[in-house]
Amino acid sequence: MKRSDLQQNARQYINGRWETGVTTGISENPSDTREVVAEYARADRNQTELAIRAAADAFPHWSQTTPQRRADVLDQIGSEILVRREELGKLLAREEGKTLPEAIGEAARAGHIFKFFAGEALRGDGETLASVRPGVQVDITREPLGVVGLITPWNFPFAIPAWKIAPALAYGNSVVFKPAELVPACGWALAEIISRAALPAGTFNLVMGSGREVGQSIVDSPLVDAISFTGSVVTGEHILQAATRRRAKVQLEMGGKNPLVVLADADLDRAVDCAVQGAYFSTGQHCTASSRLIVESTVHDAFVSRVRHRLAALKIGHALAQGTDIGPVVDRHQLERNLAAIESATAEGAEHMGGGERLNRATTGYYMSPALFLAKPEHRVARDEIFGPVACVLRADDYEHALVLANDTPFGLCAGICTTSLARAMHFKRHARVGMTMVNLPTAGVDYHVPFGGRKASSYGPREQGRHAAEFYTTVKTGYVLA
Ligand code: NAP
Ligand code: MG
Repeated sequence: MKRSDLQQNARQYINGRWETGVTTGISENPSDTREVVAEYARADRNQTELAIRAAADAFPHWSQTTPQRRADVLDQIGSEILVRREELGKLLAREEGKTLPEAIGEAARAGHIFKFFAGEALRGDGETLASVRPGVQVDITREPLGVVGLITPWNFPFAIPAWKIAPALAYGNSVVFKPAELVPACGWALAEIISRAALPAGTFNLVMGSGREVGQSIVDSPLVDAISFTGSVVTGEHILQAATRRRAKVQLEMGGKNPLVVLADADLDRAVDCAVQGAYFSTGQHCTASSRLIVESTVHDAFVSRVRHRLAALKIGHALAQGTDIGPVVDRHQLERNLAAIESATAEGAEHMGGGERLNRATTGYYMSPALFLAKPEHRVARDEIFGPVACVLRADDYEHALVLANDTPFGLCAGICTTSLARAMHFKRHARVGMTMVNLPTAGVDYHVPFGGRKASSYGPREQGRHAAEFYTTVKTGYVLA
């Protein structure tokens, strides 16, 4: 079967075999809803349990393979993704709607992540120290957990699965992966590459279908030792309750309402760039999107007028068209939610500075113009995550006020500041209650080799990515020897 045919017929990968599902689903292209991107297999609870059982059976063998073997597997996967980044990027742009350059960049990032963890598989980690007792030596080693269940959202359908699957396999765990139902072709394409990397059957499994049935089966199964989830706060909270009840290890990455502070001393062009990129690129569908722009009073009006100017010049259109700055919203439901958020922002008294309208293009898709509001800190548009191309500006009296506003949120993923003052940048880095800070950079856009994650309602458990990923995907063993 040709690769292009397979994309139309995305099966699941269970115990080393491609399996049809109990039902089938269809994913559509949000830039052109006439186009079906994939017809995909959907599992039920029983089929999900088969995948979990296969992963449990594969674990004893995979966990004992040599670091060289694991490194080779991950390196092969990473190399293939990198070589095919354009083709994979195109698939991603078709299925999720981010622009082609963004999508190719994401595919490349997924490749780099596998390569990074190929190296980590070899480097390992451990300590040896003297006991407090004479003649006794102590060593501390890391071991894999067992079966890990990986549940991912639609907005980064290659990068987020990669930053969970790669460390899980690198440290010797077996995997059951459930992608979001909106992006099965991307989940399938990744699994297809992994399936050719000489992993023992059952080490890596792909199951597709609804969160309520397939996702919930993974969360509930006593054979699943750990769950790594990225998605919404509501689903994350629900998974946390269910997983901790049966003492499974759990890691959650959830929403954000990320502030970008713009001080009067900032390079205003740079600040406008950071705001427009951070708030609106990828259609604002970033958990790290700068949806709260907190601007010092003296530059407030100039900043707002420049952002409006930039927004008016952005090209919103088909994700694959050359020159498109912003693609469509991912689906009809998300578009309806965004438009409802625009209405409610206006109703609560936020000042509408434009945008937020449904757009018609040559192809029928979920297009909307990027929206900007002037808001008060108590407005919902300044508090709730919208997950679309919608941002608000809050006026700050001075730096101290801006910092208070920046921290005045239940979330704590990323916070940025634009300033030319080193003292204020350093103060902000220390006092922003978040997992990641940015100085003179957009809040969205992070490296692949360093920790990713947040505080407060944004995250739970150890960080993802980089060497810190070992904290979640391994457990520590302390060994004593008298010799
Ligand atoms: P979501 O609705 O929470 O879904 C995330 C994943 O969980 C999907 O695979 C979903 O399956 C599954 N799921 C749903 N209900 C479940 C259940 N009861 N048990 C187990 N799994 C279940 O989130 P989304 O709509 O895909 O993504 C948007 C959200 O993700 C935003 O709120 C955004 O902030 C957040 N996000 C956070 C980060 C981060 O790193 N902090 C990154 C990206 C996105 P279905 O496919 O069936 O829905
Ligand atoms: Mg959802």
